[in-house]
Amino acid sequence: MGTVFDIIIIGGGIAGMSAAAELARDHKVCVLEMEPAAGYHATGRSAATFVPSYGPPAFRALAQASEGFFTAADPQFWPAPLLSPRGEVMLIAAGEEAHIAEGEALGLAHMPLDELQRRVPLLKRDALVAALIDEAARDIDVDLMLQGYARLVRARSGEIVFRTRVTGFTRHYGAWQVQTAGGESYSAGMVVNAAGAWASEVARLAQAQAINITPKRRSAMLLDLPADCAPDDWPLCFGAGETFYFKPMGGRLMLSPADATPVDPHDAWADDMALAEAVEKFQQVMDFEVTHAGQTWGGLRSFANDGNPVAGFDDTQDNFLWLAGQGGYGIQSAPALSRLAAALVNTGQPPADIVAAGLEPATVSPSRLSQQ
Ligand SMILES: Cc1cc2nc3c(=O)[nH]c(=O)nc-3n(C[C@H](O)[C@H](O)[C@H](O)COP(=O)(O)OP(=O)(O)OC[C@H]3O[C@@H](n4cnc5c(N)ncnc54)[C@H](O)[C@@H]3O)c2cc1C
Repeated sequence: MGTVFDIIIIGGGIAGMSAAAELARDHKVCVLEMEPAAGYHATGRSAATFVPSYGPPAFRALAQASEGFFTAADPQFWPAPLLSPRGEVMLIAAGEEAHIAEGEALGLAHMPLDELQRRVPLLKRDALVAALIDEAARDIDVDLMLQGYARLVRARSGEIVFRTRVTGFTRHYGAWQVQTAGGESYSAGMVVNAAGAWASEVARLAQAQAINITPKRRSAMLLDLPADCAPDDWPLCFGAGETFYFKPMGGRLMLSPADATPVDPHDAWADDMALAEAVEKFQQVMDFEVTHAGQTWGGLRSFANDGNPVAGFDDTQDNFLWLAGQGGYGIQSAPALSRLAAALVNTGQPPADIVAAGLEPATVSPSRLSQQ
């Protein structure tokens, strides 16, 4: 039979850890994570930004419904602020004017180029025709957020087991028997699939719905700027149409080509060609010659075919809950998505505040994807 729990959560990224914390309020939960630490994959590789205007409507609603958590998280588990000011600026070059209306529709405000250049002194003012700013964009302390959720799981008597890869499922009198690579087996009435890039693979093992969750690689590098240039207060800047972006990170500048190349799930690394293209675009708008790359990394952003998250019970397997397809918005939406997951388990209904924020539950349900 193995160790018995109410709910086993597969994946110790932000999705699995936040859901475990919410579910541990009322259930005996266990997180199974194949890596030696939480957040090793997508969660530990993000741009760590909260941008409520970013993404499809379902994600914007989830970000809005998450904001209260970020600004008022329980200090016992999150002893420092989770958000800090940043701002996000859409850079518009000649020929890209069509994106202005897009930014305006999302509530971004026009920013005079002189003012932008005061904030980002290396900017080539003449390379742009306009800029739009979203002042609501903030930085997220992702490590603090994730570790706080892990502390909450343990405080609510949940368990987190690392170095434990789920390799198969069977049923014993209806309960899930979860097999792992180490030979250990775990038993639970319910499983939550929060396996990120591996979500389709985990579903296949459980003979659940065949939903395509496609991992897409995104690359990034850190640039060292001249010694007299302190970028800490610069806003995140992105090319209109999300062609590249850069933002301060720990005294250096993170630069990403905003690539989204479909790949199989794996321990991702950066695409050097994509990074070279980002450097070229960066140098078109910044008065700075990149002579060498600092640290580089890659991460997988995982998407359902329609770009919305997959949060809800499987159509074919009882007591199999999906929590996948968070794309490039999984950190900023995790507080609401984890509350949604717990509410679906406990009451079968989404929380009223998340619906009031604009989430249409059918747009995130696995059922919408059964015919794909
Ligand atoms: C470069 C980049 C920038 C980003 N920027 C932002 C941003 O600014 N803001 C934002 O909100 N989001 C951002 N994202 C997206 C965000 O990182 C993801 O949406 C989020 O981390 C997904 O969390 P997750 O828990 O689903 O996935 P993961 O963090 O990948 O966690 C899934 C876990 O499941 C485990 N697992 C898989 N299979 C098994 C198995 N069989 N057994 C046991 N464990 C298993 C894995 O080891 C992994 O730890 C960015 C992503 C990238 C790559």
